[in-house]
Amino acid sequence: MKDAKKILQEHGFVLKKKFGQNFITNDTVLMEIVNQAQIQPDDRVIEIGPGAGALTAKLAIAAKSVTAIEIDSTLQPVLEETLQDYKNVELIFADILKWDLKKYLEQKYPAENMKVVANLPYYITTPIIMKLLEEKLPLQSITIMVQKEVADRMQAQPGGKDYGALTLAIAYYAKAKIVMTVPPHIFLPPPKVMSAVIHLQLKQSSRQQSKMAVLPEAVNSNFNLSEKQEKWLFQVIGAAFEQRRKTLLNALANKGIADKEQIRQALGTIDLPENIRGERLSLEDFIQLSKLLAKN
Ligand code: SAM
Repeated sequence: MKDAKKILQEHGFVLKKKFGQNFITNDTVLMEIVNQAQIQPDDRVIEIGPGAGALTAKLAIAAKSVTAIEIDSTLQPVLEETLQDYKNVELIFADILKWDLKKYLEQKYPAENMKVVANLPYYITTPIIMKLLEEKLPLQSITIMVQKEVADRMQAQPGGKDYGALTLAIAYYAKAKIVMTVPPHIFLPPPKVMSAVIHLQLKQSSRQQSKMAVLPEAVNSNFNLSEKQEKWLFQVIGAAFEQRRKTLLNALANKGIADKEQIRQALGTIDLPENIRGERLSLEDFIQLSKLLAKN
């Protein structure tokens, strides 16, 4: 493969901070991301933000095909050069947050379960992850480089400072594991923070399977919640953590989730003390609580 750094220089490409362009310059790290994503020769991969194509090229060698979605169309000549030897790469210039990935997958790969691999732009890490999870795409796994601090929040345990709405959203849809921590100097330019690669293995029924095995419409997750119940669960979780220093009772009542007496009763039913804070509740606790507080 042609050296991405050299090609960037030849094209006089100036990296754009506004797009979170911190490119990986270390070959060992790139290989390790591909290893941790457990890419097999039959896998179809989606990459978000190929940049100069360094990770894309490694993925193209390991996988059957790569669909790479990049917002910055001025990278087109660079990518065409770095990836000229790889015929199994499809480049799409679009904003991943606006682009209809679901429709693309339905039309192009109706019978496949995909793997997402990316060194994400840090300014929109959470919206990208939430899009991938909430749209119930046919994904097997998501392996992404993110800020270390965000990775810690994704796999936190109840009770700690990192535990919150993001942790619970991830736990609902996937099993998360930090597989690698990386220092700033492997990026061009180096970011101010430590980074980590996190692997999310999607739960069997929290993703739409390929067309062959579509789930019954109302059932969206391992927890057998309807779409309405799922939305309500995340409203309850959102309210609990918006004022995380308050007791759960006050936080939920202040946000109008239910009146105090109802919340007291619901907490009692699931054997939780009245003065508990949201950060102490597991996902299963929140599911039970949200069912008890459901408005008909
Ligand atoms: N994959 C390359 C690497 O590892 O060296 C580049 C990673 S860089 C951290 C993030 C990439 O995402 C940049 O190329 C940036 O232009 C692109 N990007 C930023 N916002 C995006 C968006 N909304 N949709 C698609 N790509 C985006």
